[in-house]
Amino acid sequence: MATATTSHGVSRGGGFLVEARRPEDILTPAEFTDDQRLIGQTAEEFVTNEVLPVIEELEQHKHGLMAGLLKKAAEIGLLGGGVPEVYGGSGLDKVSSTVLAEKLAIYASFAVSHGAHAGIGTLPIVYFGTEEQKKKYLPKLASGEWLGCYCLSEPQAGSDAQNAKARAVLSPDGKNWILSGQKMWITNGGFADLFIVFAKVDGEKFSCFIVERGSQGFSIGAEEEKMGIKGSSTVPIFFENCRVHKENLLHEIGRGHIVAFNVLNSGRFSLGAYCLGGAKKTLEVSSKYAKERVAFGKPIAEFGLIRAKLAEMAVRIFALESMIYRSAGMMDRAVAAADSASDKTQAGMKALEEYAIESSISKVYGSETLNFVVDEAVQIYGGYGFHEDYPVARAYRDARINRIFEGTNEINRLLVIQMLMKRALTGALPLLAAGAKLQEEILAGPSFDDAIPGPWTEEDRVVEGMKKSFLLAAGAAVQKHREQLVEQQETVGALADIVIDVYAAESSVRRAQKAEAVRGVQATSAMTDAARVFLHDAADRVEKQARTALAAVAEGDMLRTQLVILRRFLKREPVDAIALRRNVAAAVTAGDRYPFEGR
Ligand SMILES: Cc1cc2nc3c(=O)[nH]c(=O)nc-3n(C[C@H](O)[C@H](O)[C@H](O)COP(=O)(O)OP(=O)(O)OC[C@H]3O[C@@H](n4cnc5c(N)ncnc54)[C@H](O)[C@@H]3O)c2cc1C
Repeated sequence: MATATTSHGVSRGGGFLVEARRPEDILTPAEFTDDQRLIGQTAEEFVTNEVLPVIEELEQHKHGLMAGLLKKAAEIGLLGGGVPEVYGGSGLDKVSSTVLAEKLAIYASFAVSHGAHAGIGTLPIVYFGTEEQKKKYLPKLASGEWLGCYCLSEPQAGSDAQNAKARAVLSPDGKNWILSGQKMWITNGGFADLFIVFAKVDGEKFSCFIVERGSQGFSIGAEEEKMGIKGSSTVPIFFENCRVHKENLLHEIGRGHIVAFNVLNSGRFSLGAYCLGGAKKTLEVSSKYAKERVAFGKPIAEFGLIRAKLAEMAVRIFALESMIYRSAGMMDRAVAAADSASDKTQAGMKALEEYAIESSISKVYGSETLNFVVDEAVQIYGGYGFHEDYPVARAYRDARINRIFEGTNEINRLLVIQMLMKRALTGALPLLAAGAKLQEEILAGPSFDDAIPGPWTEEDRVVEGMKKSFLLAAGAAVQKHREQLVEQQETVGALADIVIDVYAAESSVRRAQKAEAVRGVQATSAMTDAARVFLHDAADRVEKQARTALAAVAEGDMLRTQLVILRRFLKREPVDAIALRRNVAAAVTAGDRYPFEGR
C-alpha cells in the first residue's frame, strides 16, 4: 500500500492512517498569525502577573480568589473565546483558542478552572442552546459575570457516565423539571453560578439541564481534599427535588449523551494543549536548575544522563506540539471549507466531531507526555524535587489528574479504535480499501524501489511502514474477532498505541521537513534531530505493539509469516540516538527553555 499523497484539502478524521500528507499541508506554530501570538502572549502575561503571585492563597482556597481571577481574565477577553461575537464572546478560531489554553497552563489549577468554565461549562449552550438560552446565558458567561461548570460524573458513574442515577421528572403542573440525585467531582462547583447537569428523565432518558445556583432544592458539598490541582474547586452537588424551569432543558429529552460527547471532544483536545503548556514550563525550570546545581565539581547539566533527560523531555513536547497544532489547523480548515451559509459554530462542532480521534490522541499523548516530563523534572531536582518549596513537586502532583478526567486514558484508547472501526464500517474512512490494497502488496512480494534517495527518504519510508504495521495488525485482529474485538482490550490498547505513535511521529517529521525547507539545514538541526529520534523510538514501540497484537490473534506459520512482513515494513537504518539527543539537549540548555516554539 503506498498511501496516496493528498495535497491541501480537508483531511478526514483518522485520515492520517491512510493518507500521506505533505509538509505544506500541515499547520505548524511557525505559521501562527500575529493575532494568534498576541493572544498567547496576553494569556501568559495574565497568568504570570495575576495568578502566579497568589498561588499559595489559591492552594488554601482563599474565598473568592479563583472566581475573582477568572472574572479578571474575562475583562481582557480570556473567557469568551468559545462564544460567538453576537453573544458577547470573541468567537476565536481553533488555533487561537489552543494557543490560549496552552499559555494559561503555567499554573495547572488556573488552567483547569478556566477549562471547566470556558470549555465544558459554556460550550454545551453554545452548541446546543436555543436562541433564548444563548441570549440569556452566553453574554454572562463570556463576560465572567457568571461562572460555569459541567456536572456529569456521579459517585458510582464516572467512565460509565450513562449509568447516572440522577433523575428528572416533570412537575404535575408541567412548569418545572424536578431533579434528584448527586453529582461528584465538579470542578468550579464551589463558586459557579451556572451548572450544566445531566440526569435521566423519568429515570430512563439521559438528558441535559441548565441549573442556576440558588435553585430551590440545590446544595453544594465541601471541597474535596485532592492530591493535586489544589487551587481548583472540586465539590459534590446535591439535588433534592430541585426545581428547574421547563425551558432549561438543554437539547432534547434522551439526547443528553450527544451534548456530553460533543463537549468532551472539545475538552479532550484542549486538555492536550493545557498539558503542552505545563510541560514546556517544567522543562524550562528543569534546565535552569540543572545549570545551577553543582555536583562532583560541575553543573549537573553537564552530565550525559541529565542532558539525555532534558533532550527527551523536549523531543516528546515537540511531538505533542506538532500534533496539537496540526489538529487545530485541520479543524480551522474544515470550518473554513464549510458551506458559507452554514453557521460557523455548528461547523466548529462538526469539526470537533470529525476529528474526535485526533482529540482523544491529544488527550492521551498530552497527559502522558506531561506525566513523563514532571517525573523527569523531579529526578533532575533530586531531593529538592521532593520538597514543596520547589516548583516541580506541585507540578508532579498537578499533572496526575490529566490521565483521569475528560475520559480516562484507558477509555480514550478504547475510543480511538472503536471510532476507527465505526468509520471503516460506515465508509467514512477508507480503511478497508487500504487494508485490501496492503494485502495485494504483501502478495506481490517485496518491491525494489529505484527512486533516488533524498534527505528524508528513510524517514518517509519508516512513517509509511508504521502505518502499514497498523493496517496489518488491525486487519488480523478484526479478522479474528470481528465486532467482538472491543472485548479484547489489551489488543485494542496495543493498536491504539500504534495509532498514537503514527500521528505523533508523522506530525513531528512533517513539521521538521517544513522548517528545514524554509530555514535551512543548519538552523533546524536540533529540530530535525528531535523529529528523527522520536521517529526512531516510535518505530521501536510500534514494532513491539504490533508484535503483541499479532501474537494475540494469530499462531503457528501464519504468525511467523506476519512477523516477517512486519519486520519488512519497519526495516530501518540504525540511528545514533545518543548523538541526536545531545544536539537537542544543547538547544534546550542554550536558552533554558523548550527550543522549538514558534518556529
Ligand atoms: C479533580 C477532578 C476533577 C473532576 N472534574 C469533573 C467535572 O468538572 N465534571 C465531571 O462531570 N466530572 C469530573 N471529574 C470526574 C472524572 O471525569 C472521573 O473521575 C473520570 O471520568 C473517571 O471516573 P471514575 O473516577 O468513576 O473512575 P472509574 O470509571 O471507576 O474508573 C476506574 C478505573 O477503571 C478503568 N475503567 C473504567 N471503565 C473501564 C472500561 N470499560 N475498560 C477499561 N477500563 C475501565 C478506568 O480507566 C480507571 O482506570 C473530575 C475528577 C477529578 C478527580
